[in-house]
Amino acid sequence: MSVIARWQQRLASLEVPLAVSSNTLLSSCLTNLIDKGRLSEEEGMELMNEPSLIGVSSLADMVKRSRFEDKVFYNRNLHVNTTNICVLACRFCAFRKGPRHKDAYELSPDQFVDRIAPLASDIDEVHSVGGLHPDWDVDEYADIFSTIKGKFPWIHIKALTAIEIIHISKRSGITILQTLHRLKDAGLDSIPGGGAEILVDSVRDKICRGKESSDEYLEVHSLAHRLDIPTNCTMLFGTVESISDRITHLIRLRDQQDSSRGFQCFVPYPFLQDHSRLPDAQLATSSEVIRMIAVSRLMLDNIPHIKAYRMNLGDHLSSICLNAGADDIDGTVGHEEIMHDAGSTTRLDTPESALIRLITSSGSKPIRRNSTYDQYSEIELNDSGFILPIVSG
Ligand code: SF4
Repeated sequence: MSVIARWQQRLASLEVPLAVSSNTLLSSCLTNLIDKGRLSEEEGMELMNEPSLIGVSSLADMVKRSRFEDKVFYNRNLHVNTTNICVLACRFCAFRKGPRHKDAYELSPDQFVDRIAPLASDIDEVHSVGGLHPDWDVDEYADIFSTIKGKFPWIHIKALTAIEIIHISKRSGITILQTLHRLKDAGLDSIPGGGAEILVDSVRDKICRGKESSDEYLEVHSLAHRLDIPTNCTMLFGTVESISDRITHLIRLRDQQDSSRGFQCFVPYPFLQDHSRLPDAQLATSSEVIRMIAVSRLMLDNIPHIKAYRMNLGDHLSSICLNAGADDIDGTVGHEEIMHDAGSTTRLDTPESALIRLITSSGSKPIRRNSTYDQYSEIELNDSGFILPIVSG
């Protein structure tokens, strides 16, 4: 007999909204989630095609509440990119530059530290990804990480996408496992999910030819999990993929998590188009974004956190997603290039108090978290707008 998890027990005890109870598909999905804890690939496809977006969102919100009640997580972080020089040219990317481009840059360890220094006492995490530098090997990255840790030992380093790690291992003439060992020893604490795009190789061939295959992406994350390096996973949608490709992507992540158990958070985000990149992209409407968040919550029963990535979605759409299955809204961020080079207009000077208000306005309770989701402070603003941590754990 299968063991019923606590979230399934709580799900069974929640009041069922009419939008769910009056809908045959959604009622059946609710029963299957309570009884089996998991939906099938076919059900995932049906949810993507279900006319009632309100119903799909309501069911996802029930599942989110069964796990996290009305809590929504954020952290105090800063994005710093190592370099925008990249030997690849993914068709959706607005960030990469050739080595001789006037705006190409590469940060030295000291320059990286200088970026962190003004905010160091206010942040818990630095998030860092970059291009595939033609010359850098593992020594350059180990140098950056150990320099950061030397100056700011309390700051969690979440860095390097799977393709960067593959590139570094090739440049260094060592295995991926050796590369991860070396980077972990130098201070790497966790790995973000970038580079997943769509985990269907025929789609990858159209939008990012030359990048790692779907299997290679998953292999890097699996090896990181083996070394107890937690990772996130992502999905870039609204390019040239089909609905079926999106569900395949979710199933591949779910299968990987069944075996390696190290994904902390799933971050789906739509392609942001300008006139120069991927003119054949179908793009995603706001309703599709909300549905993608909701279906991710419903299909990824083994990945605890679903993030509304406000650097891409914007604050308004992100706050709606908090009632459609998302339990995380990223952090203070402070500086961000990849989405903003692609056209994001999300403000970068949003103070923590505004982030707290954004969460509260969705009817949720703001919880400041650490990078590994194992230390929390429940947060309130007092009447003067000051931040008050009221419960820590
Ligand atoms: S997405 Fe990453 S790998 Fe692809 S071109 Fe941009 S920086 Fe390079």
